[in-house]
Amino acid sequence: MDEQQLAPHVQEINQALNGTCSEEQIMKELKQYLSFGIVLKEAKRSIIRKYGGRTTEAAPKVVRKVSEIKSSDGNIELVAKVMTVDTKEVNVRGMPRSIRFGILGDETGHCPFTSWGDWEINNEDILRIQGAYTKEFRGELQINFGNNTSVEKVEGMTFDNLDVDNIPPLGAGGAREVKIEDLRPGMGTVTISGKVMDVIPKVIGKDGNERTIYGGKLADETGRISYTAWNDMGLNKGEVIKIEGAYVRDWKGLPQLNFDERCKLETMDPDAIGEISTGSDKPVSMGELQEAGTGAEDVLIEGIMLDIREPSGLIYRCPECRKAVRDNYCNTHGDVQGVADLRVKGTVDDGTGAVSLVLKRDPTVSVVGMDVSKAEQHAKELGDESVVVKLIEQRLLDKLVQIRGNIISDDFGLTLIGEEIEVVEPEREPLVEEHLAKYEEGA
Ligand SMILES: [Zn+2]
Repeated sequence: MDEQQLAPHVQEINQALNGTCSEEQIMKELKQYLSFGIVLKEAKRSIIRKYGGRTTEAAPKVVRKVSEIKSSDGNIELVAKVMTVDTKEVNVRGMPRSIRFGILGDETGHCPFTSWGDWEINNEDILRIQGAYTKEFRGELQINFGNNTSVEKVEGMTFDNLDVDNIPPLGAGGAREVKIEDLRPGMGTVTISGKVMDVIPKVIGKDGNERTIYGGKLADETGRISYTAWNDMGLNKGEVIKIEGAYVRDWKGLPQLNFDERCKLETMDPDAIGEISTGSDKPVSMGELQEAGTGAEDVLIEGIMLDIREPSGLIYRCPECRKAVRDNYCNTHGDVQGVADLRVKGTVDDGTGAVSLVLKRDPTVSVVGMDVSKAEQHAKELGDESVVVKLIEQRLLDKLVQIRGNIISDDFGLTLIGEEIEVVEPEREPLVEEHLAKYEEGA
């Protein structure tokens, strides 16, 4: 981008900072961030934050269609039709309260809702909803109407594109039958058949509220998908099952299959489905390693980079013991002159389990595209050490990655010490479906 193209962005930053920073300075910094590989949007935010401004882009995104709703949305504006509605009495902090719940739909999908207010909501009503938020209950997304929500009935509106009859209701029965390769995030309730590849119990919750959920993979002739069963449904490894009322939820834009006691489960003849898709056999399964509880040498893990933790990016180490130090102070060696290094700490989830990752210097260098001294120099020029982490987040976060390295097992569980990392190219995205999955709550 040349200065002419950058000028409007510079003006925008200048306005966000109330003119406290000159356009000339902003232009200089913006160019530096961009030359470093930071995307424009992030570069703008960084400059605004650096000079104490507020970033308007941090405002929550407004969601307007049911199919776009994700787990952490806090600002939903919808026009949707009430497909079912019911009332129940609940206790909220010891007080009895009557709430309404049901299912809302628009032309893109449907979603359960819970209304905590006194709005009159009837079947077939078309509602304009503002300021609703989502919550997850047992892996299922729900739209909630609360104190800050406005709910209005829209009169005289026809929902031309809303074909309610073709949107299957939640719960068992009536759901469309699909193959694994056809699963899409947010498609709601389906009927699906497949072979149970593994059943891995996991205890979630705490303080007397523990319960066991089950995760694994379900495979048919078209692919594999991770599932979470929220009850002990008696799933057995190797069995072919048919599940009516399985719920496909959206996890970071990927489909994930959820079962619970509302589903109808049937054990099928093994020939009921075609030859099982074998997928890629090369990467090891984190779930299997966790089950074994042992480390492993020179393994390949393929999974989603779920998070990147501090301290990552440009870090400083004690020259004596190599531990990461802050402000040139080592807990063991006192005041030291920290030595710059690059690394990534984070979590990778391959659908069967998650593992902590520590990526060594060389693979981190390959991710950021510059060596330690160059990264240090750039960070100094920008006066922003977090710039390296931002670059790493941009390149790895939520991406499907292949990592080769050793897995160590200690009191903290398993840790993958990554020697090589590769971001799996988008062309191979169908593979992602094999690698989704994240358990709820205790995750
Ligand atoms: Zn030390």
